[in-house]
Order: sequence, then C-alpha cells, then structure tokens
Amino acid sequence: MNAPLIDPFARAISYLRVSVTDRCDFRCVYCMSEAMQFLPKKELLTLEELDRMCTTFIGMGVRKLRITGGEPLVRRDIMQFFKGIGRHLDSGALEELTLTTNGSQLERFAGDLYAAGVRRVNISLDTLDEDKFARVTRWGRLPQVLRGIDAAQKAGLQIKINAVALKGFNEDELGTITKWCASRDMKLTWIEVMPMGDLGGEDRVGQFWSLNDVRAAYAQDYTVTELAERTGGPARYVRLEETGQTIGFITPLSHNFCESCNRVRLTCTGELYMCLGQEDMADLRAPLRASDDNAQLEHAIRAAIARKPKGHDFDYSRQRADGQVTRHMSHTGG
Ligand code: SAM
Ligand code: SF4
Repeated sequence: MNAPLIDPFARAISYLRVSVTDRCDFRCVYCMSEAMQFLPKKELLTLEELDRMCTTFIGMGVRKLRITGGEPLVRRDIMQFFKGIGRHLDSGALEELTLTTNGSQLERFAGDLYAAGVRRVNISLDTLDEDKFARVTRWGRLPQVLRGIDAAQKAGLQIKINAVALKGFNEDELGTITKWCASRDMKLTWIEVMPMGDLGGEDRVGQFWSLNDVRAAYAQDYTVTELAERTGGPARYVRLEETGQTIGFITPLSHNFCESCNRVRLTCTGELYMCLGQEDMADLRAPLRASDDNAQLEHAIRAAIARKPKGHDFDYSRQRADGQVTRHMSHTGG
C-alpha cells in the first residue's frame, strides 16, 4: 500500500463517499428543483472508472466507502459495481461498503447488496404519512419504500433511517418515527437542512428546524443522555434511557465537527470535494483518463488532500443562508 492520506491538519483520510449518479427517481423539495437538469451521460465516470477510482483510494488507505447519489440504485447496472468493489472486503483492504438510498429500489436489490458484502444501509425517510411523503419527495411513493425496507431487513441488512428535520412538516411525527424505528430495530438520525443548490424558489431558511429544538422535544418525553460516541463525521448521539434507543443528530450548522473530519467526496464526474461546505475541488477524471497507469491519479489525489480546508463556512445567523454552496447535495452526494 502507498503512504496513507494525511491532510495538512493531521487528519487521516480513511472515508470516501462516492456519488455514482446525479439522477434520482424522487425530487425532494430540499434537494432538487422539480425541473432539475441532469448531466449528460457522457460526463459521468463509467462503472469501470468508478471502480478504478475507488480501488486507488483504497490503495491509499481508504477503509470505508459509502455509495450515494442522486439515487445510487437508479444507475444502470450498478450491481456490477457493488459486486466488483466487494472484492476489497474479501481481501480485507476495505472495512466497510455502505450506501445511502431513498429505498425505492431496495425491494429489487437488497439481496444482491448483501451478497456483495454490504451489511448496513442508510435509508432517507422524512415522514410516515403517505400524502406528506408524496409532497416532500414530489415523485416518491411511501408504500414502495416501506416494501424496500422490509426486503432489506429480510436480506439481513441493518438499517439506519435518516430524516431531515423540517419545521412545520415532520415536527409532529417525532414520536411516531422514533417509536417506529425502535419497533423495527432501526437506528434513527435527524439531519438539519443545509443551504445547498438552487431549489426553484423553496424557502430553505423557513424549513430549518434546529436539532437543538428536536433534542429539547425528546427531553419532554424521555431522559436524554449525551453519548461520547463519534464517527469522525458530523453526527452526535444521545440515548433515550426509557427505550435504550440511540438517536443521531447531524448538525452541520450548529456544531463544529470539522476537527475530526476523515472524509472526502467524489462526484459522479470525478470531482473530488475535500469539504462539503466549500467550493474547492480537484478534477480527478482528467488524470484518471490520461493514462492506464495510476501514477498521475495518485499524484492528483495527494495534491487535493494537501488542500483540504480546516472547516466549512455554513452559517444561518441573521436568517441568511451564509456560506451557501451553489451545488446541489445530489451532486456532491450528501
Ligand atoms: N438519494 C439518496 C437518499 O436520498 O438517501 C442519496 C443521496 S441524498 C442527496 C443523501 C442525503 O442527503 C439524504 O439523506 C437527504 O435527505 C440529504 N439531503 C439532501 N438535501 C439536503 C439538504 N439540503 N440538507 C440536508 N440534507 C439533505
Ligand atoms: Fe433524490 Fe435523495 Fe435528493 Fe431526495 S434527497 S431528491 S431521494 S437524491
């Protein structure tokens, strides 16, 4: 293996998130506009190129890979990619292969994912009400996702539900969603909505429901204990003592988590973003395509990691989405 990837702030980069497509079968209001323009297919890395990119990172010390999008499971032949990358789990070079999905295709793919070595999936779901689900995802249908969740559990996949906390939308479902996750033995994480992309007139500041308030809402019904557990990412965890449930909070706007950041993000076109909240990126597609040998690519990766910034600039103070990043979450792969 090559020398490990260490950034200028002595953080080891061991976690790569890869967006395999910018396309999606939903149009969540906080993520995409209804008339979203997608990239021409020729801009995308091929599945073989995605494999080579990931394999190179694994050779440089990446131990955890999360596949995301867009909706990763709508990319054509994506199971080929999962099966191929699974070889790094078999060899022990990779510790974990996971994905973040909206769940719509899980009924079809859960068994194949398990066979490829995936053991845990994050499923995004903000409401258990069919009408509200259709409203927030615009194109999504709740029963299909629930069937996907059933299939994933049947296949043996552990599930974490990611719910975006939306003021005036799912505040009243805090208890229902929490109990539903407990009854199905699924973890639950709340995500604070982030100011990303042009969403075609949606008022994103108005959608912001602070996770401090979510936590306070839990404290009305449960004894909430802060846990020390960290994952190197923006999640913090609490335990609800009455049920023993662990609840995660992803609060990129309220807390500084950057000091322990161990991750970088690759887009489906081969751009490497060193920080979710900054515009700086490195094009890895050109060095990848420049030669069959990986020397140029490895050089470009090291040069990019050497530019990883100390932290991000998101700030909702004064009710302005300061530090707003113009690209969509579906581009960088949330
Ligand atoms: N389509 C997959 C899904 O929905 O799980 C994977 C990609 S999606 C961009 C990844 C995560 O980003 C989802 O959990 C979604 O809720 C979250 N997300 C999208 N836009 C967001 C925003 N503006 N603020 C916070 N989270 C967002
Ligand atoms: Fe699609 Fe996920 Fe974005 Fe929703 S959050 S539109 S499911 S990429």
